[in-house]
Amino acid sequence: MSTLFDKIIAREVPAEIVYEDDQVLAFNDINPQAPTHVLIIPKKPIATLNDLSEEDAALVGRLPLVAARLAKQLGFAEEGYRVVMNCNEYGGQSVYHIHMHLLGGRRLNWPPG
Ligand code: IMP
Repeated sequence: MSTLFDKIIAREVPAEIVYEDDQVLAFNDINPQAPTHVLIIPKKPIATLNDLSEEDAALVGRLPLVAARLAKQLGFAEEGYRVVMNCNEYGGQSVYHIHMHLLGGRRLNWPPG
């Protein structure tokens, strides 16, 4: 089933794209929870973390690499930032295409709610 993020990949829904390669897309979250809030997604549609298989390991490993690259480019790598992947209802997942949140630009609280 096609999700919102498939439509963003296909350019059917507009997004502020900040990074793209053949396997990964990153764009600004529409409802930012920090001065920088980017969503980093594989172009391959994988619904949840529970649906990952061994063959996805290298692909999903690219997500934190892109996060760290963006954090450096945006200038908050040294002060710190957070990456989050929510899974299913209790984890707070609302779009069923796996994505890594990159949050930076302010001090972040812990634990999350
Ligand atoms: P989740 O709750 O972990 O699944 O994260 C989904 C994220 O997608 C939320 O932070 C939303 O704000 C974000 N979001 C929803 N619609 C859009 C959109 O059209 N563009 C960019 N981000 C979106």
